[in-house]
Amino acid sequence: MEENNDIPLLAGIEAGGTKYVCAVATNPTEPLLESRFPTGDPEATIEQAVTFFQEAMERYGPIRSMGIGTFGPADIHVKSPGYGSILTTPKRGWAGFNVVNAVRDGLGLPIPIAFDTDVNAAVLGEAEYGAAMNHRFVAYITIGTGIGAAFLHDGQIIHGRMHPEVGHMVMPDFDKAFGKSTNHCPFHESCFEGRAAGPAIESRWGIPGGELPDDHEAWDLQAAYLAAGCINLTAVWSPDLILLGGGVSQKAGLIDRVRREFEKQAGGYWSLPPLDLYLQTPSLDQNAGIVGSLALAQRLL
Ligand code: ZN
Repeated sequence: MEENNDIPLLAGIEAGGTKYVCAVATNPTEPLLESRFPTGDPEATIEQAVTFFQEAMERYGPIRSMGIGTFGPADIHVKSPGYGSILTTPKRGWAGFNVVNAVRDGLGLPIPIAFDTDVNAAVLGEAEYGAAMNHRFVAYITIGTGIGAAFLHDGQIIHGRMHPEVGHMVMPDFDKAFGKSTNHCPFHESCFEGRAAGPAIESRWGIPGGELPDDHEAWDLQAAYLAAGCINLTAVWSPDLILLGGGVSQKAGLIDRVRREFEKQAGGYWSLPPLDLYLQTPSLDQNAGIVGSLALAQRLL
């Protein structure tokens, strides 16, 4: 056993809607062991996670605390009777499923477990170890199969009554100018996620965003929506920094288009840092979620 008694072993789960990432670490940015697998039905998924952690403990000794950054919506309020549960979701079997209880029962260990949204975990990861270090108020938007956002102020994740659902903020219809009318949200006429998440891009242009050329007009339209999202967050929260994460944001050149669009839409109203500092992509890239989940675990000690 490669146990190290001096530094507590942390466990993290980035519990995404399409994949689970499990890791153990003593330093959140350097996982000692990691496992990734598709998110299936809840029982089988948790069993796979528990098996991973049991094997990790055989190698590295007992886990001291765990952080879970989950897909939502989720009950993340410690004092709520449903703390640890997934709420209304179309994902089969997950609605009402209590992830924290299932993991704790599976491991048979009374360890403290922090449960928060995946995007809240990601903003914490970026604030403690990534692009948002030394910023007081950070907004993090993730654009992938859905759109979510998280806010961190003086080291504290802002939770609100439930948690923010930035993906469903009302959006102007920029599609019209491009002769399009795509809306992928079943609830709203024109919202951020319905217009600008991965599935909306794919249904609008007929191919996945990843396959669209870098100079395609799709990215002008995408930048218009992302810039509007950033303007709204600027108007409401006045953050020091906005990070644009998630698969879609990684498109080459997109962040520059967003900055140019932001400048146009902002109309010179706000006095802000230079836009290449104010609007950035995360420095932990796709690892922000798991690093943040491990950072959640670290905060429990
Ligand atoms: Zn919506």
